[in-house]
Amino acid sequence: MLKAFLIYLSKAAWAKRIVTHWQVARRVVLRFVAGETETDAIEAVRSINQNGMTATLDVLGESVTSVEDAQAAANAYLSLIDAIEQEGLRSWVSLKLTAFGLDIDSALCQRNLIAVLDRAKAAGVMVTIDMEDSPYTQTTLDLFRSLRQQGYENVRTVIQSYLLRSDDDVRQLAEEGAGIRLVKGAYREPADVAYARKKDVDSAFVRQMNNLLEAAKDGRGYPAIATHDDAIIDQGLNFAQKEQVPPACYEFQMLYGVRTTLQSDLLAQGYNVRVYVPFGTQWYPYFMRRLAERPANLWFFASNFFRR
Ligand SMILES: Cc1cc2nc3c(=O)[nH]c(=O)nc-3n(C[C@H](O)[C@H](O)[C@H](O)COP(=O)(O)OP(=O)(O)OC[C@H]3O[C@@H](n4cnc5c(N)ncnc54)[C@H](O)[C@@H]3O)c2cc1C
Repeated sequence: MLKAFLIYLSKAAWAKRIVTHWQVARRVVLRFVAGETETDAIEAVRSINQNGMTATLDVLGESVTSVEDAQAAANAYLSLIDAIEQEGLRSWVSLKLTAFGLDIDSALCQRNLIAVLDRAKAAGVMVTIDMEDSPYTQTTLDLFRSLRQQGYENVRTVIQSYLLRSDDDVRQLAEEGAGIRLVKGAYREPADVAYARKKDVDSAFVRQMNNLLEAAKDGRGYPAIATHDDAIIDQGLNFAQKEQVPPACYEFQMLYGVRTTLQSDLLAQGYNVRVYVPFGTQWYPYFMRRLAERPANLWFFASNFFRR
C-alpha cells in the first residue's frame, strides 16, 4: 500500500511542489543523488573510480513537455560526455527517452539521442537507454533495435523482469547479442502487464539473468545484473560458476548510495561493479521511486528532521 502510494506521489505535481521546497527532503536526497551540478557528479565518479568501480551517470529529468527542455537535456549529456573524456573518467551515461522529448515528438527524441550517441561514440562512452513505464516499452525497444541496425554499437537498454513480456524480450535480445541491464522494475503497473508478487518478480529475474549469462558466455552481449538483492546475486554467481561464465563477461550495477558495502564486497571478490550516479535539479521522481522501493528509507526523514 505504502509503496503504491509513494509511486503515485512520484508523478503527482502537487506533492512535487511540497517535497522539493522542503529543506529536510533536499538533505535526505543527497543520500541517493550525487548533487545538483555536473561538477558534483564528476567529483562523485572520480571517487567511485578511485575505489575501483566504474559508473554510469544520469542527468535527472523525465517527461519533459517542451522542445527547449528536451534540447537542454541532450545538451547536458553532450557536456557531460565532454567532461568524462576530459577528466579521463571510467563512466558510461544513462538517459531517459521522455527527457529527450519522446512525449512531444519521436523524431525530436531520436535526433537528440543520435547527437548524444555520436558524441559518445567518439569518446568511447556507452549509452544506456533506461526503461520507463510500460507504455514506453515497445517504443524503447524499437528505437534501440533501429539504432543498432544503423550501426550504433555503443547503445544499451534495460529490461524489467516484472513485465510479463520480459522472458520473451530477453530471449530475443540475448539472441541478438544486445547489451542489457536487467532490473526488477520501479513503476506501478497493472496486473495484466506485470507480476505483482515479489516472489514472481524474483523468479522471473533469475530466469532472465541466467538466459543473459548463458548468451554472454557465448560472446553475445555483456549483461548488467542490476539489483541489490543478495539472494539473487548469489544465484547469479552460482549459475555463472556452474556454467563457467567468466566474471569479465558481465557486471553488477547498483544505485548510488544503496548497499555500498555489498558493492565493495563484490568488487573485492573480483567482480565488475558499476554505480549508477544520478545528479541534477530534477531529482523528485527518482527520489520518490527510491523511497517506494524501501519505505524504511522514510526513517531518514525522521532522523534528518531533528538535525540542525
Ligand atoms: C543500476 C540500476 C539501474 C536501474 N535502472 C532502472 C530502469 O531503467 N528502469 C526501472 O524501472 N528500474 C530501474 N532500476 C530500479 C529497479 O527496477 C528496482 O526498483 C531497484 O533496483 C530495487 O530493486 P532490487 O533489485 O534492488 O530488489 P529489492 O527486492 O527491491 O531490494 C533488495 C534489497 O536491496 C535493498 N534496497 C533496494 N532498494 C533500495 C533503496 N532504494 N534504498 C535502500 N535499500 C534498497 C534493500 O536492502 C532490499 O531489501 C535500476 C536499478 C539499478 C540498480
